Amino acid sequence: MKLASVALIGVLCAFTVHADAKAWPQPAAGPTMTGDPELIFTFDDGPDPDRTPFVLDALAKHHIRAVFFMVGDRLANPKAKPIVDRILREGHIIANHTMKHGDLCRIKEDAKAAAEIDDGKRTIEAAAGMTMVWFRAPYGVRCDRVDLMLLERGITHFHWDIDPREWKRGATKKTLEYLEKQVGRMTGRNVLLLHDIKKVTVEALPELLDWIDVENARRKELRLRRIRIIQSYELAAAQLPPGTLDWMQSIVPSRDGLAKAIASVLP
Ligand SMILES: [Zn+2]
Repeated sequence: MKLASVALIGVLCAFTVHADAKAWPQPAAGPTMTGDPELIFTFDDGPDPDRTPFVLDALAKHHIRAVFFMVGDRLANPKAKPIVDRILREGHIIANHTMKHGDLCRIKEDAKAAAEIDDGKRTIEAAAGMTMVWFRAPYGVRCDRVDLMLLERGITHFHWDIDPREWKRGATKKTLEYLEKQVGRMTGRNVLLLHDIKKVTVEALPELLDWIDVENARRKELRLRRIRIIQSYELAAAQLPPGTLDWMQSIVPSRDGLAKAIASVLP
């Protein structure tokens, strides 16, 4: 009896906390513009001085520009700054994934939840030297509080469509099998969620990118629609209001890679 009551309270509490939980709309980055199956790469929870460089190597080899959703606290590590610089130099976009990776719907006080977004933004902007225009909530949570905080700040949530849960899956082979299956059968535009702090991601990514090349060669042969990688700067140019693109054009000259990438898609 006692146990049953405890269980019931547990259920009620869980219900109370998540009473207003909602899902983000999908496809996360809107419909395809080309009719091809499209893929956008995003990496959460970094930077990681030991693992992010391998992710960057793999992306560079395949000329892919991604979005890196960073956690502000990780920038306290002095080894993080060179990674931030390299990410920008190589033409990727950095975005806000909060200060401490807290669950914005479960944190008790509104002010603390708001600080997660604002402190993260301030810290990441200070390291990156650019305005954070994209935001992703840790665990992808959504509730009335998150909606209100984003509305107050004029920011939209950048969700995802494919989540291999590689951080949980652990094994590279299983993760790769899942990814090849999902990417192989995708239609429309898909945002892929990966984590540049995980060993499994570092191991699976180069294999996935090689597989996409092989798969596209096969599709070309059969005259099928190929998997098209949408570069993060293409998405930024298409999605963000014109005024918000200024920050990308005004990036200091040493950050040549991104400036060139942006210039190539601007009218
Ligand atoms: Zn995260």
